[in-house]
Amino acid sequence: MNARVHELVVREVVSETSEAVSLIFDVPVELSRRFAYSPGQFLTVRVPSEQTGSVARCYSLSSSPHCGERPAVTVKRTLGGYASNWLCDNVSAGSVLTVLEPAGNFAPRNWNRDLLLCAAGSGITPIMSILKSALAMGRGKVVVLYANRDRQSIIFARQLQELIRRNPRRLSVLHWLESERGLPDARGIATWARPYRKYDVYLCGPAGFASAIKDGLARLRIPERAIRQEEYRSLTDNPFERHAAVVTPAHAVGPPQAGAGVAVAVAPAPVAAPLRASADTATVKVEIDGETHTLPWPRTKKLLDVLLDHGIDAPYVCRESACGTCVCRVERGRTRMLMNESLIDEELAMGLTLACQTLPESDDLHIAFDQ
Ligand SMILES: Cc1cc2nc3c(=O)[nH]c(=O)nc-3n(C[C@H](O)[C@H](O)[C@H](O)COP(=O)(O)OP(=O)(O)OC[C@H]3O[C@@H](n4cnc5c(N)ncnc54)[C@H](O)[C@@H]3O)c2cc1C
Repeated sequence: MNARVHELVVREVVSETSEAVSLIFDVPVELSRRFAYSPGQFLTVRVPSEQTGSVARCYSLSSSPHCGERPAVTVKRTLGGYASNWLCDNVSAGSVLTVLEPAGNFAPRNWNRDLLLCAAGSGITPIMSILKSALAMGRGKVVVLYANRDRQSIIFARQLQELIRRNPRRLSVLHWLESERGLPDARGIATWARPYRKYDVYLCGPAGFASAIKDGLARLRIPERAIRQEEYRSLTDNPFERHAAVVTPAHAVGPPQAGAGVAVAVAPAPVAAPLRASADTATVKVEIDGETHTLPWPRTKKLLDVLLDHGIDAPYVCRESACGTCVCRVERGRTRMLMNESLIDEELAMGLTLACQTLPESDDLHIAFDQ
């Protein structure tokens, strides 16, 4: 069983709007370290299905770990969607949900910077967590642009009002309501955002909204690669069902010993045999969960697949570069990513990479998780 899968009891369900609920979890003391999270991270929830056994969906934590709140996610109904409607219709206080530990890297690294937070609809969820955290432990100014269809669809309307009241000099919120001023457009955004063009930008909302924000900010010479974005999408993979399918065979033949230099899980090489890079294979030392593994890394195989094949419980959710769960740091050697939808230039410069997309370029590499 995947060690990152747990069952949590829902303590309370809060109706936020006619279409959105917050699920507040009880985390038992023995799981409190595993459920320690950063603002902007998400939980992956298993939703039972008669058709497929289950589906997996990510929901950002709307609570802040810095405000003494219990962990909570906020789910908005998607028209015709399966999991969001199932959660809104079936979960009540006392329900038990199967979830993966918090993941993702959509969070400021420096809480004292000025922040420009842009959200639309349910995109407010991670933004709310970042906002509350920044006000609680940072010193910068925070400006929020929050787009909704109309006044009734604003999630956290009262909480936002209260935060403004308590932080009048640090926080301002623009509610951009489609019913009053139409959809957000690049020109309007550029005009409004001009005073904030030196702020760090965080963005979460549907594709049309995200494009309007990026186009608007581009007019202020804020390049797209400087904007941190959380993109909502439904997982095509199911880490709850998949993990068993992928990992069990590797475990069944015995995971390689740390540093043993085993070529493949099915045929362990002698413990003393040193690993050598070749035209087809690099070698990699991986630090993860307090252990060090030295492994052969086939040049066409992504790092995450190498780790899972060796029975190593590496963190992952989407496997499409979007969620940032498998982020790790290249300590030595050169790598390349096939796709990158979550790391910005600053993080790439720090040596961060996404294991689900990373291939080796040099012969001898060192990668560390848990930075
Ligand atoms: C990092 C991240 C954070 C997110 N945070 C939030 C958040 O904070 N709040 C939020 O509301 N959303 C959030 N999302 C989006 C969320 O994960 C879902 O994509 C969203 O809730 C829509 O899921 P859905 O199943 O309702 O809709 P869809 O994915 O559109 O559901 C339709 C799909 O379900 C399948 N389906 C239909 N019936 C069944 C059935 N009986 N059994 C199995 N499959 C079926 C259909 O084939 C179809 O593919 C986030 C996404 C990501 C990636």
